[in-house]
Amino acid sequence: MEKTLFEKIADHEIPADIVYEDEQCVAFRDISPVAPQHVLLVPRKALSSIAAASQEDASLLAHLMLKVGEIARMLGIEEEGFRTVLNTGARAGQTVPHLHIHILGGRDLQWPPG
Ligand code: 5GP
Repeated sequence: MEKTLFEKIADHEIPADIVYEDEQCVAFRDISPVAPQHVLLVPRKALSSIAAASQEDASLLAHLMLKVGEIARMLGIEEEGFRTVLNTGARAGQTVPHLHIHILGGRDLQWPPG
């Protein structure tokens, strides 16, 4: 099966500004940032969205959630606050069919998110 864009980034086949990586996940700066800090955290495993995850992915999802705080600390936005977003499907505006967690910070973020 054709690799997703984010699998290619995770495999270093497409360049990206990688801020963190390990055996299970990769975090890199969004190419079109909507905040001063905008990083995408993706699993190496090709899950199309959070809705496609199953029980067998439980430890991977826990790993990703634990990395969010670590990456926010690395970016210097943990103390002031930041937002994590998982867009799922067309109505939420998901454009890349590979699970990704947006980590956004460095400015005030409005709620509700539009
Ligand atoms: P979505 O809209 O699916 O939640 O988020 C996809 C994100 O991927 C968007 O914020 C978009 O700017 C980002 N993106 C799309 N193509 C690339 C790329 O080639 N490199 C990087 N670093 N980010 C990308």
